[in-house]
Amino acid sequence: MSGTTRPALRACHDCGLVQLVPALPPGGSAHCLRCDATLRRNHRNPMTGTLAFCLSALVLFAIATSAPLLQVSRGGQVHAANLFSGPIGLENDGMWELAAVVLLATVGAPFAKLGCTLYVLLALRLPQPPRHIRRVFAWAMHLSRWSMIEIYLLGVFVAYVKLGALVRIEVGTALYALGGLLFAMVAADAMLDRQAVWEEMERRGIPQVPIDRAALIAGAGADPGADDGPTGDGPTGSGAFDDGSRARVIGCHTCDLVSVVPDDAHRHCPRCGSALHRRRRDSIAATWAFSLAALVLYLPANVYPVLTVTWFGSGQPNTILGGVRDLIRSGLWPLALLVFFASIAVPVLKLISLGILLISTQRHSRWRLHDRTMLYRVVEGIGRWSMIDVFMISILVALVQFGTLETVIPGPGAIAFAGVVILTMFAAECFDPRLMWDAAA
Ligand SMILES: [Zn+2]
Ligand SMILES: [Zn+2]
Repeated sequence: MSGTTRPALRACHDCGLVQLVPALPPGGSAHCLRCDATLRRNHRNPMTGTLAFCLSALVLFAIATSAPLLQVSRGGQVHAANLFSGPIGLENDGMWELAAVVLLATVGAPFAKLGCTLYVLLALRLPQPPRHIRRVFAWAMHLSRWSMIEIYLLGVFVAYVKLGALVRIEVGTALYALGGLLFAMVAADAMLDRQAVWEEMERRGIPQVPIDRAALIAGAGADPGADDGPTGDGPTGSGAFDDGSRARVIGCHTCDLVSVVPDDAHRHCPRCGSALHRRRRDSIAATWAFSLAALVLYLPANVYPVLTVTWFGSGQPNTILGGVRDLIRSGLWPLALLVFFASIAVPVLKLISLGILLISTQRHSRWRLHDRTMLYRVVEGIGRWSMIDVFMISILVALVQFGTLETVIPGPGAIAFAGVVILTMFAAECFDPRLMWDAAA
């Protein structure tokens, strides 16, 4: 399983260039000739290492979901919260939508992703792995962006600092377990060479791949058409050709298998079973729709209060900006900057960036293609971090419940804000960066 990889054709996710990724030694990596996206990294022991980290993550997950996360005490009253207290508190306040989002991002998606990955890796050790593991592995890959343990931990940190000034607060076992879980999941992700898993499935005869790979590779070698020469340890220039002229060569969005099909309507990938499209369908229209919907929600998200903190019987509703102002007033400058950046700056910058990407693509612009591809990667990667405020609210709601004198109640702005974050995530997912390169060509 470990060792040098086989050469394989790959269609770059970011620019669409179909190129031959050469055999990679352990530790080697290949980058796109045109846009420098990482095409493949060959790790040492990709399966065994990932399996070990996934198993440790599962144990830590069990601790994180059963032990207390934080405990606050004030005037003899003690409140402990675990991972589920936030969603339960939100549900009790009539915000089941927000409860569902928090539960999905902190428990549902990480657990499903971990479970699916473990299931596939363990099944591959069986003498005859079941055929459905290819679908299970595809789900594991789709679930990645919705698993937000790292962002939740930052939300816990903000809540911890905010509460530290008001009540006695103690850290529970679950928080240490969550830290360990985050480390194990990041390590498993970094170690997992998805291509190696697909190739192993192929070797075991799970997906029946009927295409003539040799013919494809020969075709690639016969038509060098790369813009630049090979860079660093990237793929060799002789394997590159521009798929703009070969519309029937399609790279699968899920498993990256390059297939040759007569036309791209109603075809499924022979390896993972996902629907095959040369480019994402209705990408521009769907991205516009999600971006505009997010823009509409941005207004109530900032005008309506996201939470009401009642302290000694008096309190007032707080908007996102009001929360930042409170942090500055308490002298917590770094935290104020963090919340301002994540909750106010990132959504705006993301919407502006999506607008730039959409308009420049529709105008067939050749302007700064590399920079725009980089901008797309940043937009796609950074958007989820805006959830910090939502997670912080869920923790405050769970912990601060000392009768009617001292409570935290979530406001309608929080639902609108979570809507903005999720809609911009959908918008970034719908946008197909390869259309920028197609349009420019
Ligand atoms: Zn590329
Ligand atoms: Zn596929």
